[in-house]
Amino acid sequence: RINTKKITTGSQALDGLLGGGIETRTMTEFFGEFGSGKTQLCHQLSVNVQLPLEKGGLGGKAVYIDTEGTFRWERIEAMSKAIGLEPDSAMNNIYYMRAINSDHQMAIVDDLQELIGKDPAIKLVIVDSITSHFRAEFPGRENLAVRQQKLNKHLHQLVRLAEMYDLAVIITNQVMARPDMFYGDPTVAVGGHTLYHVPGIRVQLKKSRGNKRIARIVDAPHLPEGEVVFAITEEGVRD
Ligand code: ATP
Ligand code: MG
Repeated sequence: RINTKKITTGSQALDGLLGGGIETRTMTEFFGEFGSGKTQLCHQLSVNVQLPLEKGGLGGKAVYIDTEGTFRWERIEAMSKAIGLEPDSAMNNIYYMRAINSDHQMAIVDDLQELIGKDPAIKLVIVDSITSHFRAEFPGRENLAVRQQKLNKHLHQLVRLAEMYDLAVIITNQVMARPDMFYGDPTVAVGGHTLYHVPGIRVQLKKSRGNKRIARIVDAPHLPEGEVVFAITEEGVRD
């Protein structure tokens, strides 16, 4: 995979699992049950992208599209302080956008090309979560076709941005835990249907003891198999 750059997650174990970190030109999905660490990872990466290259960042800015209202500036402050970034400038380097419904979410992504054109320092786009509005507005099997069509268009638009502007895209997706979850296709496990098929890396997150979390890559032939453990601390994502 030539020409991709990496953003550190804050955990060497998780970086190792990802082949060095979150990749540009790629969409990475974090999926897992509530509290599994998806949103905390999004916060951490919107800070870490700002680090200089030699510290695992891209010296860049982030766009954070929040669909659930769970973004917290206080976490950005704590996480940036903990890695020696000036909190005020770290906060200024994040474009925060609250998407109030699925149409708004899609419109925000429509407009991103213009924003990124104006500010090429943007190296990371986050959508946390990609699915919540779509699930709420197009529930059940009877709305599956329209839900899937809209979601597919949205996802492909994000993939195109990643490729055109050499940036990383991160999406999250809440998936209910099931005992056999690690062995089946989790998108099938949730709705009885595969939600979507788009290029990218899918990372499954699971709660473990205390502040420990387990990460596992799904369906990525070029990356090593296996699970790693990381931690969510007051300072952010760590080993
Ligand atoms: P959901 O599907 O509900 O959105 P999620 O996967 O996004 O869940 P997160 O919000 O990332 O889950 O994780 C929440 C967990 O992160 C908390 O349960 C707590 O363990 C940890 N956490 C959050 N804030 C802090 C903090 N300030 N210090 C330490 N740990 C924290
Ligand atoms: Mg969350």
